[in-house]
Formats: sequence, structure tokens, C-alpha cells
Amino acid sequence: MNHFKIALGVLLVSIAAIPVFAQYSPAQIHTLDSTLTILHQQSMFNGAVLIADHGKVKYKKAFGKVHISTNEPLKTSSAFNLASVSKQFIAMMVMLLEEKGKLDYDDPVIKHLPAFPYETVTIRHLLTHTSGLPEYFDLALAHQNTLDTLTNDELLQLLADFQPKPGFEPGERWGYCNTGYVLLASVIEKAAKMPIETFFQQQITGPLGLKDTYIYTLGMKQSPANRVFGFRRENGLEIPNDLIRFDGVVGDGNIYSSVDDLLKWDQSLYTEKLVSAKTLKEAFTPVRLNNGTTFPYGFAWSMDSSGQVLSHTGSWVGFLNEITRDTKNRQTVIILSSGSDGIARKCLKEILAGKQPELPRLELITNVQLIDGTGTPPRWCAVRLRDNKIWETGNLSAFPGETVTNGSGQVLAPGFIDSHSHHFGGLQDSPGGLALVSQGVTSIVIGQDGNSYPIDTIRQIMKKRPVAINIASYTGHTTLREMVMGENDVLRVARPDEVAQMQTLMKTEMEKGSLGLATGLEYERAFYSNRSEVLDLAKTTAALGGRYISHIRSEDVSLDEAIDEIIQIGREAKLPVQISHIKIAKRDRWGYAPTLLAQLESARASGVDITADCYPYDFWRSTLRVLFPNRDYTNPVSAEFAVNQLFDPALSPLLSYAPNPEYSGKSIVEVAALRKETPAQTLMYLIAAAAEFDRKNPDFSDNTEGIMGKSMGEPDLECFLAWPHTNICSDGSWGGHPRGYGAFTRVLGRYVRERKIMSLETAVYKMTGLAAEHLGITDRGIVAPGYFADLVLFNPATVQDRATVQQPDALSSGIEKVWVNGQLVYAAQKPTGQFPGVFIQRK
Ligand SMILES: [Zn+2]
Repeated sequence: MNHFKIALGVLLVSIAAIPVFAQYSPAQIHTLDSTLTILHQQSMFNGAVLIADHGKVKYKKAFGKVHISTNEPLKTSSAFNLASVSKQFIAMMVMLLEEKGKLDYDDPVIKHLPAFPYETVTIRHLLTHTSGLPEYFDLALAHQNTLDTLTNDELLQLLADFQPKPGFEPGERWGYCNTGYVLLASVIEKAAKMPIETFFQQQITGPLGLKDTYIYTLGMKQSPANRVFGFRRENGLEIPNDLIRFDGVVGDGNIYSSVDDLLKWDQSLYTEKLVSAKTLKEAFTPVRLNNGTTFPYGFAWSMDSSGQVLSHTGSWVGFLNEITRDTKNRQTVIILSSGSDGIARKCLKEILAGKQPELPRLELITNVQLIDGTGTPPRWCAVRLRDNKIWETGNLSAFPGETVTNGSGQVLAPGFIDSHSHHFGGLQDSPGGLALVSQGVTSIVIGQDGNSYPIDTIRQIMKKRPVAINIASYTGHTTLREMVMGENDVLRVARPDEVAQMQTLMKTEMEKGSLGLATGLEYERAFYSNRSEVLDLAKTTAALGGRYISHIRSEDVSLDEAIDEIIQIGREAKLPVQISHIKIAKRDRWGYAPTLLAQLESARASGVDITADCYPYDFWRSTLRVLFPNRDYTNPVSAEFAVNQLFDPALSPLLSYAPNPEYSGKSIVEVAALRKETPAQTLMYLIAAAAEFDRKNPDFSDNTEGIMGKSMGEPDLECFLAWPHTNICSDGSWGGHPRGYGAFTRVLGRYVRERKIMSLETAVYKMTGLAAEHLGITDRGIVAPGYFADLVLFNPATVQDRATVQQPDALSSGIEKVWVNGQLVYAAQKPTGQFPGVFIQRK
């Protein structure tokens, strides 16, 4: 069914003509020939091209085969389904009948087809696509048995029975309409009083000596001998893509011809062999609409602004064609092809316009175990890239002249998607994205924890300094608060008018491509918001198809209320919600992960699309002040509570401490021993001294203090990582916490290979396909034809994080190569200097 829909989508005409010049130089012809040869060798062209000047052939060649199951070579006399190029022959038959007095262009169609239900539509409306009639495909799909072959009579009957609403009044507008040309074929049979194939043969192909030109529909018993069969290429295989059940009709397509015959046809249009010059002139004149304006289309011919270059395209199932006639310079360009690939037509135009053709960049990655990001097990195959996309996967062999990368038996997977990253700032200094690409990450999602840049700003920064990886962004709640309430007035609930302003800003950002709303409710600048403020913004986001992601209001003392809040937001605003870096950071709740996940599953079962992301470490990195959830930094009771419940002071080192750099690297217990205090006393002292330092050094730009807080139990962490609705994130940046360089490789090394908490394909799925799904990204995260070519090649036996608290920027091992949008960005432990990253916007 899938290819069928695609086929319906392309039966259209493009008005852009092939540029035609007074002379085709030998160099151009040479370039054309070598280009078509390469395209044919690389399976991108199966067809015939003819170029003529004053009727004399300048270039004529056929490449490929008539049918995918025979080796019969194509010839310039092979007959292709012309698709919409057929319409010019239908129009000619109407002109012949008009000259014979059998019909008038301004006859209502009903005069010839009494069952036709639209009284004011004339033959001229049908010829010029100004009838307003709807396309017949939907009508036939809705009312016909899928096994029935549609015929012209049945199509007329469907119109009579169901009378679908026209798109506009006849003559009001121009709107390409296949239905009109099927009806014209029926009118021809009535007016000529014979089958259309007979009339066609008697009046056109016979007199012009067109030996390869005929009407063929599925209603006919025998397939003509020189008929070309349509096909398409799919994962290295050629698949029949020929006539479908709509091809019992004739008129909009289904006339077959060869490039040889079409040159004769083209030349006849400079003579009066068929109809008078006056009749032809009218056919080549832009149609006049009811309001007096014109549209550059006559009787089945498009024209350029000079009116002298006439052309028509045709595409249907496995066929793509175009004919262009420069009537001033008497030049003709014809391309007929089977195989569904438009690249030859594009290159032909570029060459004839005097440009170097842009051939697709191909790369074949062979000898890999493909883990494709859907969660299915690895399979041995090759993957072919074409420009920035995956072209095909399967048992593929190299084309002549193609770049081949031997994957040496390693795993090829979609590039990892980091759904919660703080790497954006550092990318300006390290546009190669070393921290990310070295762990296989090809896309990051920013705007997390409530803080974001406007989408326009991100685009500008990326334009000014292109980077190796792709970037998507949420819109931060805290940022909206600061913009509307003022930077220094956010420690309160927003007023209704302020919420309304935030909603307006949110809407604008969504329209510019934001993924949705991100909150950081645990942080001071958002903590004072209430649930209804967040809910209102979430509703605005939901209305525009966005999502909600949240660093929830508490990960320790008020975890239950915070979980309840995000579930309620999902339920009431009716949008997907995701818990950022899910964890249980309170020691007396360690081991509670299964209960929490059961609660999330129950919310899911009741219809709330709640998911999570998670980084694979049992310690966090933050400021000492987060250890006082009530912000009472001098309260000894709170300090005791922190030491006993919120982290393990013996396993939690200070990362930096500006007031006394000697403390850096030491745990709170170690510092307490030096100071001869209890850990709780030390905690209060450290915060007070840091505050004092900040007061005295207002220009100090680094972090005054930072701590790595061991606050989670590994069994909980493993539960969260393994939950089927958790994708992997880093929450990392360029140093500090080792997760910035090692989160993804740590999952593959420690949690997959060593602790075996999930299979490799499941872990990859959680880094790619599932992450993309959780973000609403539909064209990345899976290795399949048509997806963007973000890829990572890694060795499953050696992949491992190396970043540690002591050396947080140590590079992972086992990541061999990384591609972003089809370009290699990381190899041999180094960025390659390519910057193909793009901004990923919500679809
Ligand atoms: Zn966070």
C-alpha cells in the first residue's frame, strides 16, 4: 500500500521547463553522456534521452533494460508509459475532432457524456485544467473494491453517483486535473464513434508513421512487444512498479511512446500534417481565466514566459518523463525513464543550462552488523548513503567509482540522540563536538531544565559557527518567566497577565520549531511557579503538537508530589510528558524504583504518555546548595538531614572550591576531618564561605563551588535504565561530571557488556529510535531508507567510557567512526573537521 500512495502523490506536472539554448556544445554533450553513464552504472538511471536541433539528432542513447527480469536492453525505440505526457496526444485528438466539426471546445461535456453531472464544465475547461473537478483517485479508493480495475466508464459512473464537490467554479482558477483528461478520452470515443485506440491509430500514429506509439491499458489482453515495464529500486533490489488498478483508464496517461517517435511527433507540430497552424496556435496559448488573467498552460502544454518553450512532464508509478520543445530555436529535449529516480532529469537540466551537474555523493558501508535502532537484533548487511540520507540497506555490492568503507565486522547503528544535553555552549569553541561524537552522539537536545535560547538565536549561532552535530531545542519555562516577569522578579507565582504573555512567546517559539516546553521546577527561578502556571503553558504547547519535559520539582524529599505533578500535567494538558534524568535521590527511598515505575506504568495505562530519560551514573554534579531543598543553609537540622538522606558525604568529592582550592577533590567527610567538625557543620560552613566569597568577588566567572553528589543506588539506576520507556541521555557538558564525555559508552560498556542489564539492540534502541520517538523526531534514529544518515560504527567488545571524576574529559574507546547527515565527522579518535550539523525542528 505504501508505494501505491507515493505513486498517487507524483502524478503531477511540473511547470519548470528544461532550459534550451541555441547550441549544444560538444563539451556539453560529452558531459551529458558521461553523467548518464555514471548514473546508469550507479542504478540511478534506466531510460532514454534524445536531443535534437532542427529535427537532427544531436544526442540519442538508451541506458538499461526493458524489464527487470530480462536482460533485453532498452533501445531508443522502446515504448515507455508517457504518464502525463500522454495528455498532449489526447488534446490532439480533441483538436482533430473539432476541425472535423464533431465537437466544439465550448461544448458542455454533458452534451457528449449525458451522465456527466457538472452542467457548466466545458471541453475547454477539461483541456486547460480549469474545470475545478476533483481528482478521481480518492473517489475510486473510497467507493471501489480494491481488486477492481477502474475503467473510463466506471469513473464517469462514480462521478454521476457521488458528485464530489468541485474545488472551484469552472474557469475561476487553474488546477491540474487528471480526471479531466480521462473524461476527454471518453468524449473522443463518443464524438469519433469508435474505440479511442482505433481513432488514435487512424488519425495520428498511422499518418505520422509512429511505430512505437500506442494506447495500452490493463483492460487490454496483450502487452505490446516493445513495452517498457516500470520498476523501483529498494534496498538493492529492483521491484516491479508498473501499472496499478487505476490503469484501466486512458486519458491522463497510458499512452506509450519512444524517444524516436516523440521526435517525429515534435517535428509534426511544426507542420499541418495533423491540424492547421491556427488550431496549433490556440493549443500553445496560455489559458485565459474568468478574471481575465492567464495561466501558462494551453492544451496539454506548459509554456515559459516567452511562450516559445513548450514542455510537459509525466510521472506515474515507475515512470518519469519530460519533453521540451524550444519552438524558436527548433530544439527538442526528451527524457523517458523507468526506475522512479529523478536525478537524471535534474542533471540533464543542469548540463543544458551550462552548469556542472551535481551528482549524488554515494558511500557504501560494508561488512557491518547493523543494529538499526528499532530494537531488532543485529543483522549482517551493507548500508548505502546517498548525500545526507540512507539510500538502502541489504546485500549490496559497490558501484563503479563508489566510496566504500569496510566496517570490519563491527556494529553500525544510528547516531545516538542525547535528549538532555548541556553541551551547546562549548560547541562554539569545539565545533567538531568531540565530547559528543567520541561517544557516538550525533544529535543533542537543548533548552533543558527550564533554560533555553530563542530558536532564532540558535539558528543564527549555528549559521555563524557551523558544528558537527545536529541540535534540537525545547523552550525553557524559566527563560519565559525571566523574559516576562523580569530577571530579578521570578521568586513568585506569575500573574495571569504574565502567564498569557508567556503563552504568546511559547506559541511563537513552537511555530519556529521548538520541540515543546521544558521546565526545571526544582531550581529556584522556577520553583515558585504553581501547577496552574505550568499547566497553562503546557496546554498552549499541546495545542501546537509539542511535548513537555521536566526536571521535576523534587528528586528527593518531595519526589512523590513531583511525580504526581508531571502525571497531572500530562493528563490535563493532553501531551506527552517526560521526566528528565529520572532518579531517586533520597537514601531512605533507595530501592523504591520498582514502585515508582509501577506508578508510571499505571499512569500510562490510564492514557498518560509519560516517559523518562536517564544518565548512567549514581552521582550527580551540582552546587552544595541543592542539598538544602528548603533553602535554609544555616539550619543544623537541615544540614543533618542532607548528610543522612540526600547524599553520601564520604563518597561525594568537591569538584571545585574557590574560597579554598585545597578542598577541591576531597570528600565532605575528608574536609570535615581537616576542619575537625561534623560533616553537617562542614556543609554549612562551606556554603556560607562560598556566599561570602561571591560577595567579595562579584566578577568571579567560574563556579565558586561544585560537588559530585553520590545520592543514588545503583539497583534503582539499573531499573530506570532498563524501563522500556526510558531513553538514554547525558545531562552532560564539557567536563565537570564524566557523563559529558562518557554517558552513552558507559551504558554500552558497563550496563550492556559487563552487567548485562539489557541487550545491545535494546540499549541502541534507547539511544536512537526510542529517543527520537520521545522527542517527536520522525526522520532520524533509525537506519532505513529515507532517514537521515546519522551513523556510528563501534566495536561492541571494546566500547567503554573512560571519563572519570578525576579526568572527566577522557575519550571513550571503541567508537570507530561517526557520520552526521552523511558526512564523516569522527574517525581515529579525532573530529574530521566536517560541520554538517543542522537544526532539527519539530515537524
Ligand atoms: Zn536537570
